[in-house]
Amino acid sequence: MAIIISGTNVAKARKERLKEEISLSSKLYNRSPKLAVILVGNDVGSLSYVKGKAKAASEVGILIDTYHYEKSITEEEIVKKIDELNNDSTVDGILVQLPLPKHIRTDVVIELISPKKDVDGFHPRNVASLYLKQEGILPCTPKGVIALLDSENIEIDGKRAVVVGRSNIVGMPMAKMLLDRNATVTICHSHTKNLQDVTKNADILIAALGKAKFIKENMVKDGAVVIDVGANRDPETNKLCGDVDFVNVSNKCSYITKVPGGVGPMTICCLLENTYIAYLNNNRRK
Ligand code: NAP
Repeated sequence: MAIIISGTNVAKARKERLKEEISLSSKLYNRSPKLAVILVGNDVGSLSYVKGKAKAASEVGILIDTYHYEKSITEEEIVKKIDELNNDSTVDGILVQLPLPKHIRTDVVIELISPKKDVDGFHPRNVASLYLKQEGILPCTPKGVIALLDSENIEIDGKRAVVVGRSNIVGMPMAKMLLDRNATVTICHSHTKNLQDVTKNADILIAALGKAKFIKENMVKDGAVVIDVGANRDPETNKLCGDVDFVNVSNKCSYITKVPGGVGPMTICCLLENTYIAYLNNNRRK
């Protein structure tokens, strides 16, 4: 049986440290960090994500202002709000909960957020910073995965890493971050032929494809480290489950994460850390 890397525990320890740092900094700068969240519509998943983020933020001492709009809101109104938040020096981070309704252009909205307040790390300026190895805000989910690997001192340097999924928010930045830690990285996607032949070579396998329990034991090398980014509904039980068939794969690998309790809590933790970094930078600019 593999060692389970608990995102819940790693995130808890990091949040405790963050809370102490925020408490000290809030005295120094005479105000707490503030995150503005824009939520459009009543998608159940989005409502629950925002609720989780707000709870976690308040636990560490980050103020949250949530702007919850009807689904019918226009792009112009969102643009106006972002403009206002960009110019509000007491707002350190701005997060637009995705997905947005179809009549609002996501890329337009994300590009409008000041890169300095883009705590999700989705703005093109921050994406470029990652690829050019410049200072910027890193996307939360892949940043959380690296933190999980580091929490167990898992060596990345020189290892063969395979990332299944190539989205802009998970797969691609994940691959770049592993490359920056000197892994030899392969990225797989829906056109990859003989996926199993590729994943079986991975010392570190990151599953980020969004297909319930897709990664089976015959796709995993003995002793591999398996990180499950997936957040899906199990078609049989309707419960939250990952991209990895945990029960069977955990008998074959050396380390594994669970869903829930793995990458999810780390994503939120990294969002809080990014907000704190933005807050420090905001205060130092003054
Ligand atoms: P996405 O945008 O739908 O991307 C999925 C990627 O997987 C695509 O690159 C796709 O390939 C690839 N893919 C799909 N089917 C495949 C197959 N059969 N074989 C190989 N590759 C395949 O999803 P995402 O936003 O990256 O999210 C991935 C998963 O992570 C989802 O379950 C999501 O809910 C979860 N997630 C979790 C967190 C968290 O905090 N825990 C955060 C973000 C996302 P193509 O490019 O060829 O289409």
